[in-house]
Amino acid sequence: MKRIGFIGLGVMGAPMAANLLKAGFKVTVHNRTRGKCAPLENAGARVADSPRDVAPGADAVVLMLPDTEDVNTVLFDQDHGIATTLEAGQVVVDMSTIDPASSVEFGRTLSAREVHWLDAPVSGGQKGAVDGTLSIMVGGSPDAFDRCRPLWEALGKNILHVGPSGHGLMLKLINQVAVAESLLATTEAARLIAHSGLQADKALAALRAGTARSGMLDLYPEKMLQGDFAPGFRIRLMHKDLRLAVNMARTLGLSLPGLQLLYTCFQEAEAAGFGEDGTQGLYRFMEKHYA
Ligand code: NAP
Repeated sequence: MKRIGFIGLGVMGAPMAANLLKAGFKVTVHNRTRGKCAPLENAGARVADSPRDVAPGADAVVLMLPDTEDVNTVLFDQDHGIATTLEAGQVVVDMSTIDPASSVEFGRTLSAREVHWLDAPVSGGQKGAVDGTLSIMVGGSPDAFDRCRPLWEALGKNILHVGPSGHGLMLKLINQVAVAESLLATTEAARLIAHSGLQADKALAALRAGTARSGMLDLYPEKMLQGDFAPGFRIRLMHKDLRLAVNMARTLGLSLPGLQLLYTCFQEAEAAGFGEDGTQGLYRFMEKHYA
């Protein structure tokens, strides 16, 4: 595992590809908007003009794309998809958060050509991508997972093989439900603090010292109260993750009212023009629309 193709150089993909270069891999990158390849080219990556030019010579191809349709296009576009050039024995590692059932189908199609497919979504955000400390939840064949060990080590810290194809993604969606519900709790606590006249630093110190403490409560209240809504993880991507989680719950025959409420909130926030905010932007959406 020495030569890696990498497609999708956004908030997460760009620092992940940079970490692969730092770890000594030979990396070929591609991104729809070519300009995003320049910093990686300067750091030693080769740039491919099309997804199909990424696979030749690669031991593994990593995808870090927004949604299911993007992955479908990059894999199977008749003219430019990587499936036009993939060869038996290569591994495709999809680290995007997409629909688990579609991912299983993608894997089936590729396995007919003896190409290995792993779903390997991540948690840990932009900071985890930059620091190389992502949590990675992997579904697929244990052999392919083992072959990718050097890749995992360059990108993450907590790496779990959680089961067959699709299981990494199901766990990631469960993670997103827990994260979003905690974000809503943090947003409402921050709004109450702002409107109550309480001193924010004292109120937050008290909450963080007790059973209310959480990752979201550590990360976001100051940004919310000081009006810093820059991404990080964008509202449009959380909206997408919650849509995928709603579908997953429906497939399992489960009714999850908290998830449904959050999905509606994020749908409204994106429709109201807050899609490019970081998820802490839920605060300013709610201040405006749930006054
Ligand atoms: P992002 O900033 O929107 O980046 C996505 C990148 O994919 C963009 O550079 C985009 O190119 C490129 N792309 C889209 N379609 C393409 C295509 N057909 N061919 C080539 N490149 C294409 O998204 P992100 O925040 O990095 O997130 C990526 C994935 O990781 C998502 O599934 C997200 O849910 C997941 N994730 C994100 C975070 C986070 O904190 N951001 C954390 C965990 C997981 P353009 O420049 O042309 O748009």
